[in-house]
Parts: sequence; C-alpha cells; structure tokens
Amino acid sequence: MDFPRLNLHIHSKYSDGRNSIKQIVRESIEYGLNYIAITDHFTNSWKASVIPTLNSKEKLANYILEIKQCQNYLKRKNINLRLFKGIEIDISSSESYILNLINPYKFDIILLEYLESPEGIAFIKNILKSWKKKYHPNKNFPILGLAHFDPSFFIYSYFDVLIPFLREYNIYIEFNSSYSQYYARKFQDFFLKLKESSILVAIGCDSHNLLDLMNIEEPFNKIRDYELEDNLGILINRLELRKD
Ligand SMILES: [Zn+2]
Repeated sequence: MDFPRLNLHIHSKYSDGRNSIKQIVRESIEYGLNYIAITDHFTNSWKASVIPTLNSKEKLANYILEIKQCQNYLKRKNINLRLFKGIEIDISSSESYILNLINPYKFDIILLEYLESPEGIAFIKNILKSWKKKYHPNKNFPILGLAHFDPSFFIYSYFDVLIPFLREYNIYIEFNSSYSQYYARKFQDFFLKLKESSILVAIGCDSHNLLDLMNIEEPFNKIRDYELEDNLGILINRLELRKD
C-alpha cells in the first residue's frame, strides 16, 4: 500500500476503547501507521450515562499528559509516526459544559460528532466564537473534523449552508471505516461537491481495539474513487505543519 497511513479516530481506555494509549501507540508503530490521533469521547448528553468519557478537568489533564509523553517518546526514538492529541465532542452536549471544560488549544484535532441540522452548525459556530473570545487566538487552533458525518441530513436541503461553513472553518469530512454507509455510492453528488469546493477529507476508523487500527485501506480506496486525494493531501500538509 503506497498511501499515507492515517487513522485520526481512535478511542482509548479514557473513554470506551479497550486499550491504553501506550498500547495503541506501540501497535501503530508495529502496523507502520504514519499519523494517528487519540480522540476520546467528551459528552454530557444521554451518551454520558452509557460510556465513560473525559468528564473532569483532572481526567482531561491526565489524558493530554499521557499523549504528550508518548509524543516525546516517538520523537526521542525518531520513529516515523505522528501522534496527535484529539478529542471527540458530542455536539448534543450543553454549551456551558463544553466551554467550562475544554480549552481547544490543548488539542491538535477536534472531532465533532452528530452534526445533523443547521441548528447544529449554529451551535458549533457559537462554541468557536466563544473559544476565540475566551482564549487568545493564535496559530495553534486545532484542526476540526466531522466524525462519521451522515450526508443524508444535508444532501436534499441545507447543502448551501453546510459547504460554506466547512470552507470558512476549514473543517474536514471523515471517511470512517466503521460507518462505510456514509460514503456509499449514493452520496457521490455530495463528494463531487466536496471536490469542487476543496473541502478537506480524512480517514478515521473509530477504533475501539487494536484490531481496528488498520482498517484504512477501504476508506482510502473510496477517497481515490471520488478523486479526493488532493483534498486529503491538503489535510496531511496541515498535520505535517503542526508542532507537538
Ligand atoms: Zn468515535
């Protein structure tokens, strides 16, 4: 396989994943992955009563510290694997909960899950505005992505709201191998639009165990089918430019 091996959607024991961050990193080296992001859950919606989440400042601090230690290890050993500090924020969480606990500048990648309506777009815009007001804006603002985005909510209406929003905030659409129905052929008009509008795309497997870390070939083939390699390339450049 001669393509960039990236998996930007991985869960660890800090939420509902089975493995520690160290185990994930070790296995990713073994598999020869080039870019990975640990993206544990953050939510106070119904989901918070079903799965463990990053639900306190202390837990978030430990999580970030552990990822940083692994980043340092990779650098020290000169290993060809970039590890990113990520988080997956459920946008049906309350605004105050997100704003109280999350400092976006601590992360490289923020995945937003469950964008299903124009109201969701307004909600995200509000959060971004509040973050920019609360923290001194600088170049280290994280890369934003939509986790397992379901185009059917937008393909018949609100398309014209979605695309400018993705462009304005440079938000990528994730090809998530655990949700291949969302990049099925019936959505090809949607992906054509992404191509035309230079919207970024990425690959994430939503891995909850070590076996799922490498399910990247099928989403990559779909990206190639939809001729979105350049869109992926721009995203990879952005990853390359980030400093640990
Ligand atoms: Zn996930």
